Amino acid sequence: MPNNPDLETVLLGPVLADRDCGACTACCTVLTVDTPDLKKPAGTPCEKLTAHGCSIHAVRPPICRTWFCAWRRVAAMPEEARPDRSGLLVSVNFVREPRNPLEAVSLNVRAMRDQAGIDPALTQRVLDSLCDGLVAVWYSDGSRKMLLHPDNDVAQLVLSGNPSPPHLEQEVAAWRQRYGAFLDQA
Ligand code: SF4
Ligand code: SF4
Repeated sequence: MPNNPDLETVLLGPVLADRDCGACTACCTVLTVDTPDLKKPAGTPCEKLTAHGCSIHAVRPPICRTWFCAWRRVAAMPEEARPDRSGLLVSVNFVREPRNPLEAVSLNVRAMRDQAGIDPALTQRVLDSLCDGLVAVWYSDGSRKMLLHPDNDVAQLVLSGNPSPPHLEQEVAAWRQRYGAFLDQA
């Protein structure tokens, strides 16, 4: 492991040796690519993507070599949650000027197809594997983005700074400490 791991490695752990992308090419649509030779906005299929995968694989841009979704890093995520199979792509999200401080650094569970094509039981297992730490988890389906973790009552207290009931005091304090830099900017 490098001496100074990137924030994704800090939050999610290193890329797992026993998981590979296989036929998944979800990040070839999701990622922003901005190099002198190739540019594409997030959410648009890359012009180099073919039915057989990347047509410039050997010389693909650095972002394509180094970016990995959460499924490639989080062993607790179900094996069948690979994005092309599940329709769910989970990634670390950074928002420079967040409207909600809990959005500044978070995990985003993104529905890549219509909700009817996504297994709710698998979605729940994915969320169960992610919603256990001090990293906010959001779910977006293209039209809406919802905060799923922490719970709404905890989130309200974290954001407002209002006194917490005794049973939530420790949890709220931990979240406020973790997101303190972003709360201060709000
Ligand atoms: S979305 Fe994840 S599994 Fe799919 S190609 Fe990208 S890194 Fe690999
Ligand atoms: S260059 Fe290749 S790996 Fe990178 S986004 Fe385009 S198709 Fe995917």
